[in-house]
Amino acid sequence: MVEEYQCAFCLSLLYDPVTLECKHCFCLFCIKQYHTQQLRSRRLLQNNQQDNQLQCPLCRKTFLVLDWNVNKELVIIENLCFTI
Ligand SMILES: [Zn+2]
Ligand SMILES: [Zn+2]
Repeated sequence: MVEEYQCAFCLSLLYDPVTLECKHCFCLFCIKQYHTQQLRSRRLLQNNQQDNQLQCPLCRKTFLVLDWNVNKELVIIENLCFTI
């Protein structure tokens, strides 16, 4: 039951929850950190301009990240996350 509200990264309750299109939820902080790591490793592998791509760590779907800091988006995302 709590699982829906648990972050797969830090395994605690979601803080500033972000829901990806695949309906997986993560803390804003955790998913941002993960995204940064992904970008770093990707840059080492290839010079790709697709910096705004994010792969969900759970289902491996790839999404385009617009901007993590857009609060409006996050509010919408948050509502989605908690009205399941
Ligand atoms: Zn987390
Ligand atoms: Zn997912």
